[in-house]
Amino acid sequence: MRGLDRRDFHRLLLAGGLGACLPGAWACGGGDPGDYTAEDAEQLERQRREEAERDGHGRFGALRFRGYRGLAELPWFELTPAGRLRTVAELPGIIDIHAHLGMDLYRAIDETRRSERVHHWLDCDSEDPGCELDLDVYVNGNFSEAEHAALPWEFLAGAFGWGPTRTHTAANLLAEMDDVGVAQAAILPIAPALPFAGSLTERWTRAIRENGWQDRLLPFASVNPHDSEAAARLRAYADAGARGVKLHPEMQRFFPDEPAAMAVYEVCRERALPVVFHAGRSGIEPEGLRKFALMRRYEPAVAEFPEVRFVFGHGGARDLERAIPIARTHANVWLGLSSLGVSQIDRALEALGPERLVFGSDWPFYHLATPLAKILIVTRRDPGVRDALLRANAEALLA
Ligand SMILES: [Zn+2]
Repeated sequence: MRGLDRRDFHRLLLAGGLGACLPGAWACGGGDPGDYTAEDAEQLERQRREEAERDGHGRFGALRFRGYRGLAELPWFELTPAGRLRTVAELPGIIDIHAHLGMDLYRAIDETRRSERVHHWLDCDSEDPGCELDLDVYVNGNFSEAEHAALPWEFLAGAFGWGPTRTHTAANLLAEMDDVGVAQAAILPIAPALPFAGSLTERWTRAIRENGWQDRLLPFASVNPHDSEAAARLRAYADAGARGVKLHPEMQRFFPDEPAAMAVYEVCRERALPVVFHAGRSGIEPEGLRKFALMRRYEPAVAEFPEVRFVFGHGGARDLERAIPIARTHANVWLGLSSLGVSQIDRALEALGPERLVFGSDWPFYHLATPLAKILIVTRRDPGVRDALLRANAEALLA
């Protein structure tokens, strides 16, 4: 946050009463606990404990690097003289099913602006050598407590076009895609449950069209299921060329199996739009929001709409073990591989086979090379599986 002391900024917001609920509807709790049980909470704790115990003991060993630049130690990457990380391996033109631009809800950033360096949310290269980057844990396990605490405030600053968000432009994303070999990226807006927020769907779709980026950036739409106009809005977005829909039950505060959400999937069926869900608990969200992302709330939706293709973003996150049986039962469920650790990706591959696993980055949270490195490690002996995960499956999904 340049030009404004962070503490003063927080004080200002709190004084204005904004701090309570604005950060992407993120920092305020979720009201009543719903059916979030003590066992649900314990499961999440157990997953974290077990992941920490197993870290580095999987069949790929310890995978710790110093910053994103440190990934240049791997055989598929190098550092350019200017210090940019780039891919040197021959790879298929990768399709990223899960990317965002800066969530500039109240004041637009210039999407054509290039910066010397992208300040990712997990800014692992802010110092040299960079932060410890462990590829064998769920990615947010690399954030410190202080970084977690700062995130909602940085989201809030970003909503007004300040802070790291200023570097989360389409032009910077395209440059990073060129560096690492990503041919196309699905651009996922989120329609937040907030007053007066501009429509990211409309703005991003327009920016992509006006700048001629449509061959590389695939505009997705987002609607809030609680918006009474959601169905009509989604039809209009489909008419304007949306390639799919992004829904985030936690940020948008809805249950994936509630009637209002079902009405949205109905339009997805009608218009053959795939749904990319934020699915499962990441463990960094406020506890009050976790009830919205329990995997058992997703299953009725995917069962009710077998013709709609659903991608579970982050493979169900820290609830991967609950996402796997759902994907096994329902052939219309795909797992996005953003954020998962190497051992988790390996586990998903072993449990489900390669056909319904797709590469995702969740840019601008992390450098694109981070999720890519994990897939390259897991598929190092199998170019066919690599091609499926990095490109072919996403192509089929988006067809
Ligand atoms: Zn995301």
